Amino acid sequence: MADKQLLRNIPKVDEILKHEEWGKLTTIYPEGIAKDALRNYLDELRTSIKENRIAAIPLLNEIVENTRKQVIASTSPGLKRVINGTGVIIHTNLGRSLLAKSAIEAIINAATHYTNLEYDLQKGSRGDRYDHCTSILKKLTGAESALVVNNNAGAVFLILNTLADGKEAIISRGELVEIGGSFRVPDVIKKSGAILKEVGTTNRTYAGDYERAISDSTGLLMKVHTSNYRIKGFVHETVSEELISLGKRHNLPTVYDAGSGLLFPIQGIGVHDEPCITVELKKGWDIISFSGDKLLGAPQAGLILGEKSYIDAMKKNPITRALRPDKFTLAALESTLLLYLDEETARHEIPTLRMIYENQKALKTRSQRIVKVLKHLSEKVTAIPVALLSEVGGGSLPDVSIPSYGVAITPHAISVEILEERLRNLEIHVIGRIEKDRFLLDMRTILREEEHILVSGIKTALQE
Ligand SMILES: *Cc1c(COP(=O)(O)O)cnc(C)c1O
Repeated sequence: MADKQLLRNIPKVDEILKHEEWGKLTTIYPEGIAKDALRNYLDELRTSIKENRIAAIPLLNEIVENTRKQVIASTSPGLKRVINGTGVIIHTNLGRSLLAKSAIEAIINAATHYTNLEYDLQKGSRGDRYDHCTSILKKLTGAESALVVNNNAGAVFLILNTLADGKEAIISRGELVEIGGSFRVPDVIKKSGAILKEVGTTNRTYAGDYERAISDSTGLLMKVHTSNYRIKGFVHETVSEELISLGKRHNLPTVYDAGSGLLFPIQGIGVHDEPCITVELKKGWDIISFSGDKLLGAPQAGLILGEKSYIDAMKKNPITRALRPDKFTLAALESTLLLYLDEETARHEIPTLRMIYENQKALKTRSQRIVKVLKHLSEKVTAIPVALLSEVGGGSLPDVSIPSYGVAITPHAISVEILEERLRNLEIHVIGRIEKDRFLLDMRTILREEEHILVSGIKTALQE
């Protein structure tokens, strides 16, 4: 039997350990790890032979090379760096917002040194971790008080659990949305202990619908920004002002889950209705919450702004401890917020905003530059600059596309699917999309300092 012969031909471990390449491998990696990987590899080899999947035993140096690959895979983190060529700026699957330089430095500082995380430097005694971002948030937004938790889903849960446990949360049927698989507004309301009281219809809800639903069991009036979809046509949404004045008249807290954290209106990318936090607070909401890592361009966090008595009650809620942000989040969030003291600085320094505002002409120039560098590969590939449309993503501005520019690549000798797969599996993974048999890379979400990595990645992917 051929496989028995093959099995007998597998080199002895001792023989492999004497190979020159093995010596090189074990000067870089601990011998124990390398031997483990070798054993795994030889096991796989035996299985492949038994299942008739290979016809010949690899050479000694190939065995060591395959072992080396396994060693690298087993000693490197599973969370990998990728180049985002999708043009979706707040790409939830690719980690949402990148951080500003000062925010990254703040994380390194908090990781390297002790900090006054919960220490009052003036009094020389215990302090409060929740104080760190509060003053800058109050200053930027005019809010009376602020609280930072782990994410906006946690924020919404905490608000409902604190202000409406066992009571009704009145909300429009048109706002019972799902934000990504695991966050559905009706489910979060139920889990928080509040009772969902839906009013109106999917497309039309009036102030009168809310008012008629108010009773002794009402805990709060809630509005959720329908971040990721829009209804068009025969639509009526109760405006913030009406809901707020209804709340005031009936002495009920009004709560707004605004989704993304826009601190000043975005101009120049088309009409849209993304709520601006500062504007909404001025209207008189008692509580507003939003994410840290969407349009705000900060780390993952849930920000809660509004009336002090309500926020104090949330701080006392034992659930808050389970939702508390770590020191890296607080450090990066505070540093990002400080950039907002000057709008121009925020637009330049915060990657999410910088990407939104980068103009099409600049992106065209960058695309042309890449195409020019790829000219020497013209036997293997056709690359041309193309006009594209970017998206903000992260469930923000679903009906806004930003005119962009990028590179369209058509390989000659391999299929576009194979090119896509190879780029996706490079050491620095490149993610783009296939459209009409071309591989598209949108320059808006590709950093300038990544351009040369991208070019050499394309070169590697085209090698036979
Ligand atoms: C994104 C979003 C959430 C969830 O926020 P996370 O920070 O991802 O937890 C909740 N509500 C709305 C309206 C959103 O857009």
